[in-house]
Amino acid sequence: MGRKISRRHVLFSMGAVSLGGLSWSLSDHEEAFASHPAIAAQTGLVPLIYSPSYNISAFGLEHLHPFDSSKYDKIYKSIKNAGLRSEDDFLRPTSISEEALLRVHTREYLDSLKDSWELAKILEVGPSMFVPSILLDWKVLKPMRVAAGGTLLTCRTALQHGLAINLGGGYHHAFSNKGGGFCVYSDVPVAINALHEEGLLKRALIIDTDAHQGNGFATLAQASNERISLLDFYDESIYPIPKVEEDWAIAFPKGTDGKTYLTALEDNVPRAIDKYKPDLIVYNAGSDVLEPDPLSTFKLNSNDMSARDFFVVDYARSKNIPVAMVLAGGYSKDSALAHAASIKGILKKFDDVS
Ligand SMILES: [Zn+2]
Repeated sequence: MGRKISRRHVLFSMGAVSLGGLSWSLSDHEEAFASHPAIAAQTGLVPLIYSPSYNISAFGLEHLHPFDSSKYDKIYKSIKNAGLRSEDDFLRPTSISEEALLRVHTREYLDSLKDSWELAKILEVGPSMFVPSILLDWKVLKPMRVAAGGTLLTCRTALQHGLAINLGGGYHHAFSNKGGGFCVYSDVPVAINALHEEGLLKRALIIDTDAHQGNGFATLAQASNERISLLDFYDESIYPIPKVEEDWAIAFPKGTDGKTYLTALEDNVPRAIDKYKPDLIVYNAGSDVLEPDPLSTFKLNSNDMSARDFFVVDYARSKNIPVAMVLAGGYSKDSALAHAASIKGILKKFDDVS
């Protein structure tokens, strides 16, 4: 059954590539995979969403940003090598559609991404301004559109089966009309709005534990007429400065340790869920909370991060609320393995292998 899905995916992917890197406006392939979750659930395994296309390789330019552009592949391989999944067990998304993007982003903003200079500012990689935009679209934006498609597939799958995890996504610095901090497409609001449009959910809560304030998601949540609420845990001493207004923000001081962090998490998550009563929780689980991360001052270790992720997922499931987990930022060498360890802990509890 799983093998059949993969073959279909390969066909769709080849179709996209044959149309060139700019084919995304023509495709809405995610819909073609709407039947996947039901098939995956027959196995009793937590659906994991991943495509090799998530990994960015852009002529070496990707190494000019601290982001580990092959992080997703490392997480995928770690889970596979542990014997927890085979290649065919992963649900493979394709690009988010332009129609879905336009429910959140302005046409002017999406058009501006064809300008290498504009894109270089978002990606924080200056030399990319010299790369033709069609190549940047193919090498950088396409992977992000596939990961955004993955977030939509993850949310849809979670609604059907309670829990699903995207091994990518979480671009929380992307606004309706601008990007920033390596985030181009505001994938989580895009996914929530797509599913709302289909009548599949009324209200979603984003729980954001990436070390940075999710300023893009926050601004979109504020403008969502209560369709989207946000509980955001972040390091107040780092980007973005200034911070934007938020529904419910936990701004930690510089150098916060794991114990302090987890105490605040365990206090606020239940109260936020009780207040907002969401149909879906989208959990943005950044690994830049780890102590070695060069872009934050948090002092969490890998065990703290696993405990954080497990608490959010386990608590939500104990309340019977569907959870879609995405991975957000993380820039230390420990990032991929910490994510993998955390996901393995969740699978240990929620995989039904009986
Ligand atoms: Zn971050």
